[in-house]
Amino acid sequence: MTNRRDFLKTAAMASVAAALPSFTGKPEEENNLEGKGNKPIVLSTWNFGVQANGAAWEVLKNNGRALDAVEAGVKIPEGDPKERSVGYGGRPDRDGRVTLDACIMDEYANIGSVACLEYIKHPISVARAVMEKTPHVMLVGDGALQFALSQGFVKENLLVEESEKEWKEWLKTSQYKPIANIENHDTIGMIALDSHGNLSGACTTSGMAFKMHGRVGDSPIIGAGLYVDNEIGAATATGHGEEVIRIAGCHLVVELMRQGKSPQKACEEAVSRIVKLTKLRNKNLKDIQVGFIALNKKGEFGAYCVQGGFNFAVNDASGNRLIDADYFLK
Ligand code: ASP
Repeated sequence: MTNRRDFLKTAAMASVAAALPSFTGKPEEENNLEGKGNKPIVLSTWNFGVQANGAAWEVLKNNGRALDAVEAGVKIPEGDPKERSVGYGGRPDRDGRVTLDACIMDEYANIGSVACLEYIKHPISVARAVMEKTPHVMLVGDGALQFALSQGFVKENLLVEESEKEWKEWLKTSQYKPIANIENHDTIGMIALDSHGNLSGACTTSGMAFKMHGRVGDSPIIGAGLYVDNEIGAATATGHGEEVIRIAGCHLVVELMRQGKSPQKACEEAVSRIVKLTKLRNKNLKDIQVGFIALNKKGEFGAYCVQGGFNFAVNDASGNRLIDADYFLK
């Protein structure tokens, strides 16, 4: 797995692609997608998106369903103990408990979500089980765990040595000051369009490191951390969840695409709402990072974030690549 520094380097090279006028990652003359559509395609947040896309692509290239692709994709970082911000190996809350959030949405507007789930390595699959096997859309805490166990998921210790060490170090000051960009909060959000032209999305995280016990961010909230409308497009988010929830971020991005905005412009507009509300609330924008990625029904995509440092991975017929997202604070 590439470390953060390596990935930033790769991202810097990929920023050439981001500088293209269109965000399909292809030369402009190849960008006429009208009628043709760029599918299948999968997009996901951050550097671990590359590996995750690889797993999703296996499903998509065999004409599989976007729903199966996004679940398979995000399970890669969820299961990786070296990833400190998703699933197994995720950083704990301030009480030393690893609590996970995830949600999933398909082309029929079926939704499932879990929040503050402990001891289960793949919260995305529990979210899918909530979607497919219960009359509800969201289960939290102990109820989510009981449900997971009833479905045959195995209870495991998710706190790896390295994360425990970091938490013990953090306890010395116990200051909750999430760094505006990277290190202590990275969610995998993944959105895909399959060869049948259907969209789905998944989002999974261990949330902000050293958060209050019981804190839930945007990632498991349909409309905030993820939204899919099979007629229009899909969007997912990463970063400070409180800010994404404040603007109902991903629903907003999809609604902006419905109004005719490109995925790129829709992400930019959503970020500008965050900027506006941050000013209104007299907070410092420098302390905030939020990134959105969006995909429309034609397979066009876009991304935008508050400040530099956010990248995303795209996999379509032209391959799997990292792109540095454009940003507001320059
Ligand atoms: N959005 C996640 C949360 O607020 C964290 C992240 O994406 O970094 O829990």
